[in-house]
Amino acid sequence: MRIEEVQSTTKTHRVATHTHIKGLGLKEDGFALPIAAGFVGQEQGREAAGLVVDMIRQKKMAGRALLLAGGPGTGKTALALGIAQELGSKVPFCPMVGSEVYSSEVKKTEVLMENFRRAIGLRIKENKEVYEGEVTELTPEETESTTGGYGKSISHVIIGLKTVKGTKQLKLDPTIYDSLVKEKVAVGDVIYIEANSGAVKRVGRCDAFATEFDLEAEEYVPLPKGEVHKKKEIVQDVTLHDLDAANAKPQGGQDILSMMGQLMKPKKTEITEKLRQEVNKVVNRYIDTGVAELVPGVLFIDEVHMLDIECFTYLNKALESSLAPIVIFATNRGICCIKGTDLPSPHGIPVDLLDRLVIIRTLPYTPAEMVQILAIRAQVEGLVVDEDSLAYLGEIGERTSLRHVVQLLTPGSIMAKSNGRDEIERGDLEEVAELFLDARASARLLADQSDRYVSQ
Ligand code: ATP
Repeated sequence: MRIEEVQSTTKTHRVATHTHIKGLGLKEDGFALPIAAGFVGQEQGREAAGLVVDMIRQKKMAGRALLLAGGPGTGKTALALGIAQELGSKVPFCPMVGSEVYSSEVKKTEVLMENFRRAIGLRIKENKEVYEGEVTELTPEETESTTGGYGKSISHVIIGLKTVKGTKQLKLDPTIYDSLVKEKVAVGDVIYIEANSGAVKRVGRCDAFATEFDLEAEEYVPLPKGEVHKKKEIVQDVTLHDLDAANAKPQGGQDILSMMGQLMKPKKTEITEKLRQEVNKVVNRYIDTGVAELVPGVLFIDEVHMLDIECFTYLNKALESSLAPIVIFATNRGICCIKGTDLPSPHGIPVDLLDRLVIIRTLPYTPAEMVQILAIRAQVEGLVVDEDSLAYLGEIGERTSLRHVVQLLTPGSIMAKSNGRDEIERGDLEEVAELFLDARASARLLADQSDRYVSQ
């Protein structure tokens, strides 16, 4: 199995609405700046979240979890993401909703386990032997292709590579051609070619090459095929789930994780407990030998009251594991029954799990704060909205929710376009607001017109 083939499975679509959140926006002393790192207001929540980050860093959160309690659209997901980002830019963040565990095909605990493993990262460092140099022009005799820097014949590919010490034509295996084309390698690019697999990476243009190597004045002698040019450290970030999934598929090739590939029989289609244990074994070996470093991430479970007693029992145990991510729950419920029982409990969470939780409350936003958040979102989405329109959205947000008004921005821009403008005006938003109901208005309508709807 080749690490390049391990596709990251981060749930990007759910995180897309939070692209403006870059951290918690706290000062050195831990106090929140009113607007920073994409965050507006919610100062107390952010400061408390900052303390949680400190606890995690000091390894005081093991076996415990965080609960964010607050109404819809009060920034619970944003806070959880902010915590992940404060922990490091490569820390995995896996968001899920409690109700996701209910599927007719997969066991509830299996869904939880998969998400647990999506939230545990592994940073693999590997020293690779590479040819490195700037791609140079080849003569017409050397190549029939139009790319200039490399040419293909049936038996080999020739690539012109210039290093500080001179220019060399490398004769390489024909299979490398596809990688060169895929990476869109052109004359003047600085590339490296892995000695073993022939994988090609473009690392920049020749000016970067010149600075890097002129200064260091290393022994860069262009070498013929088969000889090692340089050892380069490659860092690859994957999650345990990526490794599970890659090993569950039929494999081919030999590379960094070939150890893992050899451990498991090919043509597996399902991630079994046994396979996970095998992956864990290899991962632990990598960690012990210093090849890899564990990066515990954040598993965010929204609407935690949707989980049932079986899931809670499982979570209680999973939190104790040495391979556990930071778990952050969120809910907007007060006292309600624990699903699967008739026992009422705060937030619908059993008391033994509640005991393990640190709780942060999120509060509703003022219209002025909503306007500021909307302005940030509009900027991120490349939308032009005038101040009057933002104020109008702030008014709607006060009656509905922040989430609802953030969602009105995109239809607002489509409406503006169909009215022949790039800039969103109040009139566009008035039209859109009439077309789309917020959750509360929709509930009111259902209550008023209950006789017109089918009910069970
Ligand atoms: P729900 O309970 O419905 O899942 P939530 O409490 O998780 O809601 P978010 O999804 O975090 O709320 O917030 C809705 C939108 O507003 C998101 O795009 C989020 O990034 C943004 N947002 C929320 N709070 C803030 C804030 N304080 N500063 C900047 N953006 C925010």
